Amino acid sequence: MSEQISRDNLRTLVAGWLAAGKKVVGPVQVKPGMALFAPLRSADALLLDRWVRPSNSIKEVVFPRHEALYGYRIGKNSVELFDAAVFEEQIVIGAHPCDAASLPILDKLFNWDFQDEIYNQRRAGVTVISVACTESDDECFCTSVGLSPSAERGSDAMLLPRADGGFDVRLLSDKARGLFAEAKLAAGSDGQAAYAGPASKFDPAQVGAFAKDHFEDPFWAEHALACVGCGACAYTCPVCHCFDIVDEGNGREGVRARNWDACQYGMFTLHASGHNPRNNQAARQRQRIYHKFYMYPEKFGEILCTGCGNCARNCPEGLGVLPVVTEVSHG
Ligand code: SF4
Ligand code: SF4
Repeated sequence: MSEQISRDNLRTLVAGWLAAGKKVVGPVQVKPGMALFAPLRSADALLLDRWVRPSNSIKEVVFPRHEALYGYRIGKNSVELFDAAVFEEQIVIGAHPCDAASLPILDKLFNWDFQDEIYNQRRAGVTVISVACTESDDECFCTSVGLSPSAERGSDAMLLPRADGGFDVRLLSDKARGLFAEAKLAAGSDGQAAYAGPASKFDPAQVGAFAKDHFEDPFWAEHALACVGCGACAYTCPVCHCFDIVDEGNGREGVRARNWDACQYGMFTLHASGHNPRNNQAARQRQRIYHKFYMYPEKFGEILCTGCGNCARNCPEGLGVLPVVTEVSHG
């Protein structure tokens, strides 16, 4: 038996968090046809009235597009280094299971050969309240990568939409139980999700085996023909995590910053010597599939993809992962 909350009471709860000065991130409408995960200015701005698929991902709350790692000041005979990262408590509400599942995947990367303290400190301040999906579109494939429309991985709480407009509430962590302590909850139903999700579309193990055994194959060049190398697939992916580190400032002061980068950019692998091991778009497209379905599973035991479909939805050329892996899997 789960508890339930009405839609009005959920908005009241969110309004209370905002009034208390908490940062709350959720899907908001930024223009007709486009929603983004963004900090809420009011509880009314939170999109709850239909299935929403924001164009960005929630990785931005733990891995910002740009972040200062530390600052520096250069004196006549000295160099001063100082902390520049900013940390705050963040509540994410309205994520889907394919968004929430990205955070435990990123945790592995940022704690592999080096404990990234800045990532870890920011991550510790995040609470994720997910909304189970009640529908999907042609680009969704969570069920092909081991997830589902109500998978709990990465969520501190799960809201399951009810026919009366309210939600069944599953509280999954102490952080979530604390946030809902003041909520007006009522006894609910069995808390079971009604929607099973899209039918499975491909076999990830088959894709990984193909990528491993077909490193040199015309297949990659055929699929890369339409790619314009814009990087939208990587930037909107909840688990793509490539970054560059640069000094931003002048000769006297500045910050050492971490900025997003993407494997689809020609300069991403350009060496100082001028050599580029991925000197064409086919090699870059192959890298994206190879990394997600072969290299990452080999290293971390899981696929670097949650099936959210953002890469296809945001690709100006209709590419993304799904058409490629579907063809690999079905021949
Ligand atoms: S590769 Fe595409 S479908 Fe998979 S998690 Fe990234 S954006 Fe989503
Ligand atoms: S979004 Fe599409 S066109 Fe842009 S880099 Fe990715 S696959 Fe290529």
